[in-house]
Amino acid sequence: MGLFFLQFILGASLASAVMCWADRSDNPSWWNQRSACASCEHPLTYLDLIPVVSGCLLRARCRYCQAPYGWVYPLAEFGMGWFFVIEAGQPLVLATALTLLALSIEDYRTLSAHVLLVIPLIACSFIWPITVISWPLVAFNLALSMWLIIAKKTLGSGDGPILVLLAGQLSPLTWSLALLIACSSALICYALGQRRHIPFIPFLSLGWLVAICLIR
Ligand SMILES: [Zn+2]
Repeated sequence: MGLFFLQFILGASLASAVMCWADRSDNPSWWNQRSACASCEHPLTYLDLIPVVSGCLLRARCRYCQAPYGWVYPLAEFGMGWFFVIEAGQPLVLATALTLLALSIEDYRTLSAHVLLVIPLIACSFIWPITVISWPLVAFNLALSMWLIIAKKTLGSGDGPILVLLAGQLSPLTWSLALLIACSSALICYALGQRRHIPFIPFLSLGWLVAICLIR
């Protein structure tokens, strides 16, 4: 029980840290800044930054100006905490989850992401496979990504490496399911939303999450 609690705290804290980084990753001095409210810029204290707890007690609002910052933060911290409990002992899966969370927040915020961060994950997926790697699927994803990005310009350049990562970690069947979930949920959000361009990494991440839970 104590170990589960520690795993949960570790997952929630790391989720909080990577989302904090994703929120300010386009600022060159992000590593040197104190956390502050995005609306009133009031510096945040440790009481505002307790993973899950602060978000719930403050109802996802700034304590100083009451501006909402979104339930996605406490929910993602809670979800990652649980993910660290159920996927304990799977460091590559946990590292992928944290990276995809950070890239999703970045992509949602700026429609771009530091996608080169997935290159080490792709390399590790080939060295320590999570499932039996389908090399034809990997080659297909590589070719598909290049075609969509360079020839058709319908995918952001950041989505290509994510597709290759998915192909390296999933079987052909679960990869198909992940892509189906990603495309259909993105289409629904596009139809319901106001944005002309929608970030695709959050939807690919959702597809990966569902697929990885299914193969456990
Ligand atoms: Zn504020």
